[in-house]
Amino acid sequence: LPPAAIESLQAEDVARLVPRPRPQDHKYTRGVVGVRAGSAEYPGAALLSVAGAACGLAGMVRYVGEDPVADRVRQAHPEVVGAGRVQAWVVGSGGGEHAGEALAAALADEVPTVVDADALRHLRPSHGRPDLVLTPHAGELAAMLGRERTEIEADPLGWARRAAEEHAAVVVLKGRRTVTARPDGRVRVTTTGTPWLATAGAGDVLGGVVGALLATGLEPFDAVSVGSWLHGAAATLAARGGPLVASEVARALPAAVRGLPRP
Ligand code: AMP
Ligand code: MG
Repeated sequence: LPPAAIESLQAEDVARLVPRPRPQDHKYTRGVVGVRAGSAEYPGAALLSVAGAACGLAGMVRYVGEDPVADRVRQAHPEVVGAGRVQAWVVGSGGGEHAGEALAAALADEVPTVVDADALRHLRPSHGRPDLVLTPHAGELAAMLGRERTEIEADPLGWARRAAEEHAAVVVLKGRRTVTARPDGRVRVTTTGTPWLATAGAGDVLGGVVGALLATGLEPFDAVSVGSWLHGAAATLAARGGPLVASEVARALPAAVRGLPRP
């Protein structure tokens, strides 16, 4: 691929792209996002993915999983409902050995899907669809490409583009600077965020937010750009120059949306 111009969204771009409810909307027209994440071993990943998805940008969040994890999700998020039709899926965070089944079930629906964490290991290039959003950190991308983590970290842009081309999907390489690549080589870098985001569960929240944006009908490249911009802005708000935990990032997402300039 030829060298790419690096794009980055400004607050004004995000304000223009972020979905806002119209008076005639109801919860279904605003988009329904489904989450298949977490496991008995990692119940927190389910809670955090759902917390990101339940940021208020989509009309409804469904969680599909087994008790006791599903029960904990219902306790923590009374708004969340069970299985049914969705316009986008989020799969993989903390899925452990069930991640492969979760991925297969989500892919069968043929709706835009965020593929994170454990589900990334089950992806094959033949799954490649432009409505898939893969969200590896450097270690996960290294495993996908059969490389070393240090190689990925030395050229995040190049490897994100390579993976996007190979999988014919949108690839979001998370880290200090989150790089999003499309199969055609376009790349965007997220400018918001804080090193305090280097904390367990932060990526699970991001997957949920991006899923919510996909459910509203934003096209994948924009959904990721807007989602990672807001995720970083929420982290900055929550951290206020100090430490934070991932659930605080999810709680600060509505404030990050309110803080956008008027479109
Ligand atoms: P994960 O490793 O899946 O939990 O994802 C980590 C999240 O934290 C991603 O959104 C990263 O972009 C973000 N992150 C990790 N390290 C840093 C850092 N040093 N500076 C800014 N953001 C970071
Ligand atoms: Mg992760």
